[in-house]
Amino acid sequence: MTMKVKTAAVHAGDRVEPSRAVPLQASIHTASVAYFDDAGALDASLDGADYVYTRIRGQNAQLLEEAVAALEGTEDCAAFPSGQAALKALLEAQKLQEGERVVIANDGYGASFALVKSFCAERKAAFHPLSMTDPGTPAMIQRLAPRLVLAESVTNPLLSVPDLDVIAAACREAGALFTVDATFPSPALHRAAEHGADVVLQSTTKWLNGHSDAMGGTLSGSRERIAPLKAARILHGAILGPFEAWLTLRGVRTLPVRMAAHSQHAARIADRLKAAPRVERVIYPGLPEHPQHAVARRMLPSGFGGMLAFEVKGAGRAECFRFLEKVKLCKPAPSLGDVCTLVMHAASASARRMTPEERAAAGIRENLIRVSVGLEDPDDVAEDLLQAIAAAA
Ligand SMILES: *Cc1c(COP(=O)(O)O)cnc(C)c1O
Repeated sequence: MTMKVKTAAVHAGDRVEPSRAVPLQASIHTASVAYFDDAGALDASLDGADYVYTRIRGQNAQLLEEAVAALEGTEDCAAFPSGQAALKALLEAQKLQEGERVVIANDGYGASFALVKSFCAERKAAFHPLSMTDPGTPAMIQRLAPRLVLAESVTNPLLSVPDLDVIAAACREAGALFTVDATFPSPALHRAAEHGADVVLQSTTKWLNGHSDAMGGTLSGSRERIAPLKAARILHGAILGPFEAWLTLRGVRTLPVRMAAHSQHAARIADRLKAAPRVERVIYPGLPEHPQHAVARRMLPSGFGGMLAFEVKGAGRAECFRFLEKVKLCKPAPSLGDVCTLVMHAASASARRMTPEERAAAGIRENLIRVSVGLEDPDDVAEDLLQAIAAAA
């Protein structure tokens, strides 16, 4: 059939022929809709039997979900357009009732903290921020009998490392859904499901993507727990787009080797910062003086990760802001998990959405700088940090 130009513009070259050749890596499936030559197949595809409409089922998101489930060691995984969207989907699925309780790590990521707090306020549920490293917390969880407990494997930004096995046991006793945000170590260094997490949250925006070029979030767990989240996602529409899923899966291919290098570099930089006179305290789970170092050895057996933090003696916000302007190699960017080293003033960035009282309760002080260690030579990074600390003083 010869097509007139307007018809050709729309239809020429639109039929992807099925092929038996298996591509070594997936392509980006941008088509948001497909059709079938038989109506029965179309009918079945609308229930998810095939890829007919990306909100129902998308190739790239599904491939990423398979990969993340395999990394986490869980049966299933659901991908979302951001870590926050994943957390919101999980909260929605709980159908919280008035008077029910939610427990959250008091020193975790500020935006998760603020989201859970406002969600509880809307539902008239009780919001209980607790320190997950306080020895009294497991008993408190049993007493409160919350619907949901949200912990972080390594907290943002203070890098405390709770004993997840102990908290998981308390959650089981209390009948609480135990959700663990394992973004900081990533599944390459730590599988939260093996320590009793019912659901594992990742902001794939960070280490899984690894190159700061796509946002995303995942929830991993048993098929029974993840299937309803996927069903709700078809209606709620919070899907991960094909470009983002593809970029993230590309990042996943090198995740374990990157995390090994990030861990090695961070350990070296932590040692060098410790020797600096202006540095009051270096926080890194791999340091023997870290308050949960023994727990960290169990939770993070193959590397302590790429995140570290340090406090500058006597510094206030102004001096920390000067520090951010003085780094040359490192970038003052409010994220983590990149190949490039990123530095951030915790109180004004990751903990921005907490009140000053909440920050004080968590121990997040104005002189705290968080570092996401990149893949540059660690001595170059250490020298850049040290010169910026000196220049800002
Ligand atoms: C960034 C982050 C999130 C939120 O993820 P987004 O992809 O930015 O929505 C959640 N938890 C932790 C620990 C994070 O660092």
